[in-house]
Amino acid sequence: MSGESNGKLTEAATVKKMELIPEIKFTKLFINGQFVDSVSGKTFETIDPRTGDVITKVAQGIKEDIDLAVQAARDAFDDGPWPRLSGANVQLYNVYADDQQRRRILMKLADLIDANAEELAALDAIDGGKLFHDGKNIDIPGAAETFRYYAGVADKIHGETLKMSREFQAYTLREPIGVVGHIIPWNFPTQMFAMKVGPALAAGCTMIVKPAEQTPLSALYCAHLTKLAGIPDGAVNVVTGYGPVAGAAISSHMDIDKVSFTGSTEVGRLVMQAAAMSNLKQVSLELGGKSPVIIFDDAELDKAVDLALLGSLYNKAKICVAGSRVFVQEGIYVEFVKKLEEKVRLWVVGDPFDVDSQQGPQVEKKQFEKILSYIEHGKREGATLLAGGKRFGQKGFYIQPTIFTDVKDDMIIAKEEIFGPVMSVLKFKTTGEVIRRANATKYGLAAGVITNNLDTANTVSRSIRAGVIWINCYFAFDRDSPYGGYKMSGFGRDMGIDGLDKYLHAKSVATPIYNSPWL
Ligand code: ADP
Repeated sequence: MSGESNGKLTEAATVKKMELIPEIKFTKLFINGQFVDSVSGKTFETIDPRTGDVITKVAQGIKEDIDLAVQAARDAFDDGPWPRLSGANVQLYNVYADDQQRRRILMKLADLIDANAEELAALDAIDGGKLFHDGKNIDIPGAAETFRYYAGVADKIHGETLKMSREFQAYTLREPIGVVGHIIPWNFPTQMFAMKVGPALAAGCTMIVKPAEQTPLSALYCAHLTKLAGIPDGAVNVVTGYGPVAGAAISSHMDIDKVSFTGSTEVGRLVMQAAAMSNLKQVSLELGGKSPVIIFDDAELDKAVDLALLGSLYNKAKICVAGSRVFVQEGIYVEFVKKLEEKVRLWVVGDPFDVDSQQGPQVEKKQFEKILSYIEHGKREGATLLAGGKRFGQKGFYIQPTIFTDVKDDMIIAKEEIFGPVMSVLKFKTTGEVIRRANATKYGLAAGVITNNLDTANTVSRSIRAGVIWINCYFAFDRDSPYGGYKMSGFGRDMGIDGLDKYLHAKSVATPIYNSPWL
């Protein structure tokens, strides 16, 4: 890979980085607190996207394994301690010692994640091509903080006193929804685990996690940490395997109460269909996006270019909220494109363990080829290729950061989610026009607005039909900030208190007031 114009990888760096590659400790299914082989004894290969080589073989869960995991989670929910620890309103007594309370255990899990940040970051780097230093310093500490955030609400889950009519007193209880199936993608493996498992555990649910087949390793490692933290057996189960088999067995299971899915819109539709055709389990879906970043004439140019690059290239654009449609107002369009061309040359693609790398490899060959075919579409459709447009290097699944300008709304690259480092730049004249064009998509996950005019920022923020709006920033995620989609980007929210609510039922309890003159 050395010798590439924008790569900085050297042989010496490669040798040093090998020391960071972790020993793979967990490759079996985690069911009822034990690591076990799959029922069939089958395994599947997980691949290092830096080279295309096999890292290891992981247990391949099928329907029978999901059945075992669901049984463990059901027993843990119906008879186990987890939903009954302090913080849940399902029992009025707490027979467990203070140190077994949910808040404390989740805090301990967070500390364990922090203590193992380097190993988890390294697993996500070799399995998913994620930048090791971002993982160690941002993603993994972020996952630990997510567990702390939900630990903090675990003992504050309560209902309301209801007004009712005068003859009754009534209140609501917030109760855990039951057994949850989490089906998660490969783009943020450890963070996604925390984002789903944290609130569901805080609510008192028990669960089965099905990590993406491309990135099973960190979820299995986290399973081991849940055990060390003291989460009771059966409360968290991790079943690795293929989506159409293990994932589908979750969405169609008759004894799962909720499925929380993050992934593609196509698979989201299958999950919802399976939920409807089985036991009508609750569904929340966080799906694809084609988010606009809207840059107005009054924006500070350098900042706007940096945000556009960040929005469309961060995490090699393997992020559903990627700002892949960059609308630039006509007054600064030419200057913006010039600066973009200068700055993208400085963007460093390279091994995810290299501290200078800003972009690692795409997760797998299939995605890599799909992205390259979208790039070919862009070329054929007549957009101007400003930068990139090819694979990067000769080995692994690296792609050059690619920018198309003069993109038209009806081009495929402007309409479909590419899930790769490909930015489309589109020109606009007026605020009304850009609102209409930005909204002309089946998706509605996020949007960026870059302007110094408060009225413009407010008008656009209220007019864009998307779940998250970032004004003069991008990817401003926080544990306290819920996110999720409008339209075909899904429904239900992750993170924040909304992210907890989706794992809770509200139960109304009413009782007559016997001394009421009306009874
Ligand atoms: P992406 O486009 O991000 O790869 P997918 O929607 O294909 O997203 O995958 C996200 C998650 O959904 C993964 O864990 C995958 O295994 C799972 N999955 C894939 N197909 C199905 C299916 N038919 N039913 C349930 N889950 C599935």
